[in-house]
Amino acid sequence: MPDRMWSLAQFRFDEQIGAAEVYLDRGDGLAPMPRDEAIAYAHARGANLVASWPEADDQLPTCIVAKVSLPVRWEQVPLDTPEADERLWFQAPCGGRDFLVGSGNTFPGRMAAWCPDKAVFYNVSLDEMASMSEQARYFVAGFLAGNQPGHPVDGDGDAAESDLVAWQAATARFRRSGYWYGRWSTCEACGCVLLPDSADDRCHEHLA
Ligand SMILES: [Zn+2]
Repeated sequence: MPDRMWSLAQFRFDEQIGAAEVYLDRGDGLAPMPRDEAIAYAHARGANLVASWPEADDQLPTCIVAKVSLPVRWEQVPLDTPEADERLWFQAPCGGRDFLVGSGNTFPGRMAAWCPDKAVFYNVSLDEMASMSEQARYFVAGFLAGNQPGHPVDGDGDAAESDLVAWQAATARFRRSGYWYGRWSTCEACGCVLLPDSADDRCHEHLA
């Protein structure tokens, strides 16, 4: 599961597909075959060979037969201007009533907000929000649940037990504060490595 949308520059068809062999379903299930044979099969049908899943290092690309028009371009969809839902109000850092509108698309936990007084969008975290509507509270809870970073893995994709325990504690605190600092630091009192959500100088045990 990719963590971001892929770029059109990564779209591959026909000879752009780098592998010598590909998977293609010619009506009787996915089967491996030489790439050039797959391209010829697609062209014979007035279409192209399109890599439908980005190539993984150790796997053959899975392809489909589909028509490609040049130059390659994205589907066009009209953009709506996002409308603020007034039920998603919260008391903003500036004192006014602003509205949550979506994801900040920056650091984990950052949400996009709309300030009607100044007519500006800006990013806000849960800790910076004072009182809020019940709807806003549940918006934030759902946002943080979906937005929390995944657990750490080593080179083989396995998770160390100590990493998992730390991740559970860090994400639990993240869902209360909305902050994910994402940096290495140590406790100035005992020298332990601080969890990445924290902006404090001291660990949980040594906070004054
Ligand atoms: Zn400490």
